[in-house]
Amino acid sequence: MMAPAHADVFKWEHLPFPKSLPQFQKLFPDDDRCARYLEGARWPRGFECPHCGTKGEPFRFEARPGVLRCRDCRRDISLTAGTILERTKQPLTTWFWAAYLVSSMTPGLSAVQFQRQLGLSRYETAFQILHKLRAGMVRPDRDKIGGNLTRKDHVEVDETWVGGATRGEGRGVHDQTLVIGAVEVRQRPPKKGDKPERKGGRYAGRLRLDVVPDRTAKSLCGFVERAVEPGAIVITDAAPSYAGLEKLGYAHLPVVEASDPKVAEEYLPIIHLAFSNLKSWLRGTHHGVSPQHLQAYLNEFSFRFNRRFYPFNAFRSLLGIGANGESPTYDGLYSGEWKHPSVSGHGN
Ligand SMILES: [Zn+2]
Repeated sequence: MMAPAHADVFKWEHLPFPKSLPQFQKLFPDDDRCARYLEGARWPRGFECPHCGTKGEPFRFEARPGVLRCRDCRRDISLTAGTILERTKQPLTTWFWAAYLVSSMTPGLSAVQFQRQLGLSRYETAFQILHKLRAGMVRPDRDKIGGNLTRKDHVEVDETWVGGATRGEGRGVHDQTLVIGAVEVRQRPPKKGDKPERKGGRYAGRLRLDVVPDRTAKSLCGFVERAVEPGAIVITDAAPSYAGLEKLGYAHLPVVEASDPKVAEEYLPIIHLAFSNLKSWLRGTHHGVSPQHLQAYLNEFSFRFNRRFYPFNAFRSLLGIGANGESPTYDGLYSGEWKHPSVSGHGN
């Protein structure tokens, strides 16, 4: 499972990912260690010169840890080229720390808190780093969910109104935005010593969220078609707009009376939990979001949600190194077989 904090950061097969800031600081104490990390992500089996193809230990410079020089052709190779760290004036440790905070620990970080945490002298710098990292999260995950579920698993789909309630004028829907969500609901494999049916053993897999203009069949079914693999079991409320799902190839299970909060809680609990977390995040961190920017925030929320068991994936993805993958499966986490995703696992 979790590698100890002192584990060798240069062992790429199972690169440890820290679970706390102190662990993080032990693993990435200086720019040299960060640079070694970038190097390992790019060449899991050791340096190979992109210019002349020479393999083997390059020249290194103490004062410029982000640069390697080929021993053969003597050309310099920048480790940050092609990543968001390219041409940065900030130390690599600052970027690593920032990506770590954003991906795993404090999603609600404001630029001011961020500046303080990172010990940056200028607010502007904190803002720009945060902005660049956010940009990596607002690209939507494009593949469909629900495709690799087992017999007991299904997808919950529902809508909710977001925003507009913070202005003190009651809950008028005129300035609220309709959001639709789909979430994989998976059955946790039982572990030894488990109490029977603890919480039903259900947990959330991947999430998709979209702004939709209305509750027409075109909007709701259109979203399901974009977000969910045909063939999946899809649970919704009994709104007539969802009636077409069966014809679109889904195993559709409409829940009658799902407009009753108690019934909804029982049959659509996971998507409601996701909605509720989303709303407190939007309220608490951003004090509401304007409708035209909401989709970007939905994407950011989903990005983190979909990688929450694997912050390492989020971290790499934010730095623009290695695979941009969501976590492929959560089963290993619960069966105790989870291993940290390896740097070499990105197709080299
Ligand atoms: Zn070379």
